[in-house]
Amino acid sequence: MVAKPNPFHSALKQLEIAADLLKLDPDVHQLLKEPKRVVTVAVPVRMDSGEVRTFMGYRVQHNDARGPFKGGIRYHPEVSLDEVKALAFWMTWKCGVVDIPFGGAKGGVVCNPKEMSLAEKERLTRRYTSMIAPIIGPFVDIPAPDVYTDAQTMAWIMDTYSQLIGRPEPACVTGKPVTLGGSEGRAQATGLGAAICAREAVKTFGLELKDATVAIQGFGNVGSNAALALAEMGCKIIALSDSRGGIFSKKGIDPLKALQHKKETGSVVGLAGCEEITNEELLELECDILLPAALENVITSSNASKVKARIVVEGANGPTTPEADRILYDNKVFVVPDILANAGGVTVSYFEWVQNLNRDHWTLSEVKRKLEERMVSAFKTVYETSVKQNIDMRAAALMVGVGRVAEAIKMRGLWP
Ligand code: NAD
Repeated sequence: MVAKPNPFHSALKQLEIAADLLKLDPDVHQLLKEPKRVVTVAVPVRMDSGEVRTFMGYRVQHNDARGPFKGGIRYHPEVSLDEVKALAFWMTWKCGVVDIPFGGAKGGVVCNPKEMSLAEKERLTRRYTSMIAPIIGPFVDIPAPDVYTDAQTMAWIMDTYSQLIGRPEPACVTGKPVTLGGSEGRAQATGLGAAICAREAVKTFGLELKDATVAIQGFGNVGSNAALALAEMGCKIIALSDSRGGIFSKKGIDPLKALQHKKETGSVVGLAGCEEITNEELLELECDILLPAALENVITSSNASKVKARIVVEGANGPTTPEADRILYDNKVFVVPDILANAGGVTVSYFEWVQNLNRDHWTLSEVKRKLEERMVSAFKTVYETSVKQNIDMRAAALMVGVGRVAEAIKMRGLWP
């Protein structure tokens, strides 16, 4: 059996690429190779059966040279410390790419939320929050949703943190429900940002998005919102998938119908008028845009040469290994890398934090206008860097993101 690629190794390799291109000071490179802080917690939770189970949880804070740490919390049976470290690295570069004043962090708990009741998930979230409370806060480290966590999870984090400090503190977490100070448009932001990137990528080919065919792997927050936004822009969604499998229709799939079907049955599989395909087949479909929006390492050296899409927009974090990157580049597949393509989420999280600190509430159109501006500008900066340096989009995004972080480290100097 081939060993599963380690996302932390990919993150280190990417940092090395950026360091070479930027001729990074070796001291800064060394400092960026390790997270600033890693916290491991064993979270005891009383299950509905009365039994107490212990779940391993992590919070990794990579770098805060440009502002407070920021990053999602993932609940998944395959969470590992190396995965959380990699995700924290990518958050640091991502905040640099979209030029928002945050550093990078990530959290994760090894659990299977699909097998837990709502009450068990609440007890897990509250206890985990209490155990990382000393190192989070509105000016220190601000969590957000990621795989299998959502606005409800963020509401529990906000409440637990507020109870611990004795006053309401909405700015301690983003991706909250709107009634608790969440931002309009946060739930759609990552998918919408990815769709904006797809549109900008298509433009670089001198083409229009209208009737472009799209295959999306993962139909959760990011995948479903990307599908809705791309369909609204005129694209034809030909394939969708989730953890149970995929669906394909040459004529196009209505994402609203797929959402309804998933709500009723728990999966997109079985939607009327569609053929069933596997997640692997979806990645190899003939299409204009492929949007992986599930987990890491799905495009690897074993299947990269079979990717037929002209454009890959990485809604997920780390879906492509560095070896696969090379193959895609050689095959002239245009890759919009994760640290740009899915940065819409952290961008609107930043808007949410600003609104919370100012006790303000922006309209949806205001949020969307500001997101559009940030995403288009970041895309332009990365694209121009890739053209100027004659490098792929990931290397260019890393140059921009790592470059900004390195500059901040240099300017701040070393204390004491
Ligand atoms: P989610 O939990 O809402 O959805 C995950 C989706 O992936 C689900 O449809 C699930 O069924 C599917 N999935 C899980 N395992 C799979 C497998 N083995 N094969 C195919 N599909 C599988 O999570 P999300 O928030 O949409 O996150 C998806 C990706 O986007 C992750 O990589 C996450 O880190 C990244 N991301 C999310 C955000 C955000 O704002 N939520 C922001 C930036 C990046």
